[in-house]
Amino acid sequence: QYKHISLPKQSKDELYQMGETFNDMMEQLKINYEKQEQFVSNASHELKTPLTVIEGYASLLKRRGRDHPELFDESVEAIHSEAIRMKELTQQLLLLAKHDEQWDVDLQIVSLTDLVEESIRSFKAGYKREVNVFVEQKMKVKTDPQKLKQLLYILLDNARKYSEDLIKVNIMTIKNRAVIEVVDRGIGIPVKEQSKVFDRFFRVDKVRTGKNGGFGLGLPLAKELADAIDAKICLSSVEGEGTTVQIWFKKGPSH
Ligand code: ADP
Repeated sequence: QYKHISLPKQSKDELYQMGETFNDMMEQLKINYEKQEQFVSNASHELKTPLTVIEGYASLLKRRGRDHPELFDESVEAIHSEAIRMKELTQQLLLLAKHDEQWDVDLQIVSLTDLVEESIRSFKAGYKREVNVFVEQKMKVKTDPQKLKQLLYILLDNARKYSEDLIKVNIMTIKNRAVIEVVDRGIGIPVKEQSKVFDRFFRVDKVRTGKNGGFGLGLPLAKELADAIDAKICLSSVEGEGTTVQIWFKKGPSH
């Protein structure tokens, strides 16, 4: 026979709380699932574009290449550059996927000046762009050097893609915290878009950034790298004038 059990008030509150927590958890799972779905759909779309170009040129060569050797250069060039884009995209996707499983962080005390100079050297090996470093104060910080280099590379690469002038890198302390900033005098980012540039796959304007642009994964990756090394990224930009991105370390110099 059914017996009505009346719970003490405290247990009722606890049950209610548990129910609320459960609902929140389900909501969060749903949001994560939707985000994941969106991510996969965006990634597939981005991969499809270069693949379509590669397929088109490959089939053109297959059909007409033998009789029209003049098609060769243009087709191979297009196939090659699209293949490079696909490689870049998959590298970024792999890094992001790796982060979703948590990154290992390898903390060391390093000289910021040496690390920045090393990053610029490897950046310059790939691109002939002038980069000036201004060191307000030589200092050491505790960080993961590999991740910081990756992060700097993304910022330098954006400065390269979206400006034509000299790129500046400053190393300084602000409010007793170590800060690195990458400054360009390029096309800048409109104010209303600035909060979105850290969203995966967001690009300010695909037409404006054209072929030079990336996939909208650089800054999201930069933010995750910064989180991993316990640093913060601040972006300020004026459309038509340029962009400054700062990396704020949690602490000041280590001695
Ligand atoms: P991407 O790989 O496409 O450059 P990011 O995630 O690094 O993607 O940046 C997102 C968007 O923000 C870019 O597509 C570009 O429109 C804009 N952006 C990023 N950095 C700069 C910069 N230094 N100057 C102007 N626009 C920038």
